[in-house]
Amino acid sequence: MIDARQIEQLRKIIGKENVLTSPEDMVSYSYDAMNLWAHKPDCVVLPVDAAGISAVLKFANENNIPVTPRGGGTNVSGGSIPIKGGIVLVTTRINRIIEINKTNLNATVEPGVILQDFNNALTKEGLFFPPDPQSAAGCTMGGVVAENSGGPSCLKYGVTKQYVLGLEVVLADGRIVKLGGLTPKNRTGYELMMLFTGSEGTLGIISKITLRLLPAPKAEKTVVAVFTDVAVAGEAVSEIIAAGILPAKIEFVDNWTFDKFRGLLPDKTLDTCQVILLIQVDGLKETVEAEAQQIFSLCKKTAAEVKVAGDKVEAVRYWAARSAHFSDISSRAHTIVNDDVSVPRDKIVEFIKRGQEAARRFDVPLSFAGHIGDGNFHPVVLTDSRDKEHFARAHQCVDEIIEIALSLGGVISGEHGIGLEKKRFMKKAMDPVAIEIMKKIKDVLDPRHILNPGKIWEDEADET
Ligand SMILES: Cc1cc2nc3c(=O)[nH]c(=O)nc-3n(C[C@H](O)[C@H](O)[C@H](O)COP(=O)(O)OP(=O)(O)OC[C@H]3O[C@@H](n4cnc5c(N)ncnc54)[C@H](O)[C@@H]3O)c2cc1C
Repeated sequence: MIDARQIEQLRKIIGKENVLTSPEDMVSYSYDAMNLWAHKPDCVVLPVDAAGISAVLKFANENNIPVTPRGGGTNVSGGSIPIKGGIVLVTTRINRIIEINKTNLNATVEPGVILQDFNNALTKEGLFFPPDPQSAAGCTMGGVVAENSGGPSCLKYGVTKQYVLGLEVVLADGRIVKLGGLTPKNRTGYELMMLFTGSEGTLGIISKITLRLLPAPKAEKTVVAVFTDVAVAGEAVSEIIAAGILPAKIEFVDNWTFDKFRGLLPDKTLDTCQVILLIQVDGLKETVEAEAQQIFSLCKKTAAEVKVAGDKVEAVRYWAARSAHFSDISSRAHTIVNDDVSVPRDKIVEFIKRGQEAARRFDVPLSFAGHIGDGNFHPVVLTDSRDKEHFARAHQCVDEIIEIALSLGGVISGEHGIGLEKKRFMKKAMDPVAIEIMKKIKDVLDPRHILNPGKIWEDEADET
């Protein structure tokens, strides 16, 4: 708990206009994009530069005050929730795109830049940053790196860590460290930079980022295929990849989201089918045309309906319907329990079948969607936290789905991170020696454990 004198000191350190304390503000910064957890901070600080982050951390470290870093607050694993109170440090006022360099194919940005603004600036230059969490309108570049975010395009292009060239990080004691650089090749010492990519705000606060970019693809084509059976759709994915085609994206939604596709696909098909695959190929125009036709022919063998989008406008409408999945499913129940597991691609069909069987056994509604092309699923159980018995069954079902993923050689999080949500699985999912090393790294970088306490590690769960 921060006392009034300490809040006054924080106002002096970064300016009173950059410190929030009203009850309304504390509520606003108490949650993430889910409604499963909430905890109010004692105050919120919004530094305007790295020096401000440094001064706040130095003060917090000296006074043993917890600090929870926050960008857009769009994470879905509890990462930005200040469960031990203290300070929420928001980066959204540190938001300049410092440079986009077409020759070096890189860009340097501050952590509070919104991903969509960055993408818009890149599009004007004919450039491309592939990671595309479906929260681009609200998430920040700092959050994207801290979560090592993914998204649909990762099938062909990889996740955020494949694009981080350089970081500036403010450590828990306020020291500022520069890691990596501007060049795509850099073999200087240990890859310390990668420690911070995906560290969920537990090791340092990212204050500047240099990212590798790609030239924007010249052409894109979207194929949409509707199947009567989820497992048959999974087999179609395997066939596409086995045919030597690597689409930019293979996404899927189940029939909970079909209303979003009305007017785009025949109602009769939508009334009787179970799953839609959306596949995007990109590259040179000729290659894209040929690959789209090949995918069309492969899907035609088992799908009830297959279409190649006639133009970009039609394609955008399909992708908008896919992006609406999370908000759509959220509006269908009082509470949703959303998951994020990844399984090897050759286990996709078995994973889906066993997940559906678990939902039947626990008698809970289950919606499947996600990045099926790289085996990364977001199963969502619809429930109501006010109905304790149903809510408990929903959690049991999700836990079983996680166990199924692990038993198939998968991982407990593909892209949403551990946060509060998955820490109870860490011991099961990781080699104990790896956990021991990670904890030692935490002790070296943040000896007083002031940074995002209570996240990732189960033994810090006393207040959850
Ligand atoms: C509708 C919807 C769709 C989504 N789709 C995807 C998807 O397809 N793929 C995907 O990967 N994710 C997805 N997400 C999750 C989320 O949006 C991403 O993880 C996003 O990158 C988080 O960015 P943020 O700025 O909102 O971070 P926040 O939510 O503010 O923070 C996330 C974590 O990073 C830490 N953090 C934030 N900024 C910093 C910083 N500067 N330095 C150090 N630590 C920091 C926080 O402490 C927290 O632990 C989705 C979320 C929603 C709501």
